[in-house]
Amino acid sequence: SNCSQSGSPSVTSGADSIYCRPEYQHPWSRDVRKALLQIFKLKEFRQNQLEAINATLSGKDCFVLMPTGGGKSLCYQLPACVPSGVTNGITLVVSPLLSLIHDQVSRLVSLGVHTISLTGSQTAEQRNWAFSEIYSATPRTKLIYVTPEMIMNSPKFQDALRSLHSRKKLARFVIDEAHCVSQWGHDFRPDYKQLGSLRTKYPGIPIMALTATANEKVKMDIMDCLEMRQCEKFVSSFNRPNLRYEVRKKEKSVIDDIVALIETHYPRESGIIYCGSRRACEELTDKLKRKGLPIGFYHAGLDKDDRIRIQKEWAEGFIDIIVATVAFGMGIDKADVRFVIHYSLPQSLEGYYQETGRAGRDGKESMCILYYCYRDKHTIEHLIERGEGSALQKERQRNNLRLMISYCENKIDCRRQHVLAYFGERFDKANCHRTCDNCRINVKSITKDVREDVKNIIELVWSIQNEKITINHCMDVYRGMKHAKILERQHDRLPMYGKGSSYKKQEMERLFHMLVIQQILTEHLETNGQGFTLAYARVGKNASKFRSGTQAIHFISTEDEGPSEPSPLSKAGSRKKKSKSESAPDPHQQCLEELKALRADLAAS
Ligand code: ADP
Ligand code: MG
Ligand code: ZN
Repeated sequence: SNCSQSGSPSVTSGADSIYCRPEYQHPWSRDVRKALLQIFKLKEFRQNQLEAINATLSGKDCFVLMPTGGGKSLCYQLPACVPSGVTNGITLVVSPLLSLIHDQVSRLVSLGVHTISLTGSQTAEQRNWAFSEIYSATPRTKLIYVTPEMIMNSPKFQDALRSLHSRKKLARFVIDEAHCVSQWGHDFRPDYKQLGSLRTKYPGIPIMALTATANEKVKMDIMDCLEMRQCEKFVSSFNRPNLRYEVRKKEKSVIDDIVALIETHYPRESGIIYCGSRRACEELTDKLKRKGLPIGFYHAGLDKDDRIRIQKEWAEGFIDIIVATVAFGMGIDKADVRFVIHYSLPQSLEGYYQETGRAGRDGKESMCILYYCYRDKHTIEHLIERGEGSALQKERQRNNLRLMISYCENKIDCRRQHVLAYFGERFDKANCHRTCDNCRINVKSITKDVREDVKNIIELVWSIQNEKITINHCMDVYRGMKHAKILERQHDRLPMYGKGSSYKKQEMERLFHMLVIQQILTEHLETNGQGFTLAYARVGKNASKFRSGTQAIHFISTEDEGPSEPSPLSKAGSRKKKSKSESAPDPHQQCLEELKALRADLAAS
């Protein structure tokens, strides 16, 4: 080697100097480098790739957490091509989707890597060929891709695995999209759960689990279920520097807004627009088509052939934009998606992150825009309540939704910081470089202690909650509005009427929404005769702490909430002087605290 151990610095240059680095001091390092350049035709490893490769080649269990598009496949495809002396033989890859398996196998084959797959959808002939390869004395195959059903439910395949194992030709198990193992993940699959028995059935075989789902609980659950031991963990940053984030108010003009956006910034470019329901998906497609945009739609209600056709048309550029429900996602590997628009509120920050993550996989600047209106919350709540989940799952979904709303309502914190905090990652917002709306616009804000208002609002809602009134109605009463509904019900005579007259409309909305997020108020859903969902205001489970007005509660007031509407009751001096709290809390800290509390809740439940 031409590394200098001590003394004068050696003049090493060119490719060889790389072998001086500690991560290249393994017996397999030269083979690894060669495989990177010659087989995979890549120049450099990305963060954690080489580290994970070394760990698995030394026979350790490892857990790889990388955002979508981060390059997880290489972490197991490359070691599959390199004999290490510690682990030799075939790498078995478990992957949840046929389309994913198909893409990866054909890619590997085109690179000249001997790869086979075993799935339920193959012909007997294909399968026989695969088995003869597995049983051959010296298989040339480097990787076998299987679905979890195949590995767990096919006795024939299990025999084949046992044979490989006993002949010491089984190098490692790879569980791709490993979050499917966990019931806490957003995509749980019962067949994945059974993979936990691999450890005992095939002792001594290292396991590598990979996922883009960073939720702490899911992470622990995966390692636990798979019985991974002394696992090496590789966690990459989830920040996606080339994505721009923005939340826009969803108003009547939303369609024109979308059209203008696409026509000015991304004409003839590829994009995804996510909708909350199949119906919304089709309606939006219609509206956008009429404006002349080249689009198609995709949801789980289409038959399989249509889904495949549309995905293909989009992938190959025959249509630019796809309007889709969240059914459209996993397995999409289109690199040049320039924008992801959310036309409806996502159900969780996790889902939002995954969906926006499909933009800009080629590293070029791309845009993620979420159109938000508070009412969309009710649609999702409705889905949750009518869904099939257990009480526990529903509670988690409600919590996820609250955090999602809190993200949308937030006008202060860096969007990256907010989302990454959800994944437990600390992000310095200086690194955002004004690529999110909140950093770019930099709204002036002050933190106020609103305990008086909160106490009043609780009392107000308490006194009228049996009358089936909405949150909006309560806001109007508190601001002292005089419309018919208020007068009819004589709510202008309530003691709390007009006490909040100094608030601008939007600021009052934000305050009420904050109270809902914190479960000081809650909304009770009912469906009326015409099938519309109505949400009635009630006092929430966290109200009791604030009823007496002795407990401080902070509200971040922004100064640019639009022009002040003249309030009917704005007498001079009616506004109580709000003392700016002595030590105004760092808003980011508050957001983190809230996330922490929620995570603790989830862990406890
Ligand atoms: P993931 O499974 O993490 O979502 P993939 O493994 O599918 O990501 O990789 C995403 C893209 O990144 C692929 O196009 C892949 O070729 C590319 N890629 C992976 N590693 C590297 C690397 N070291 N250098 C350049 N491109 C890479
Ligand atoms: Mg992948
Ligand atoms: Zn930012």
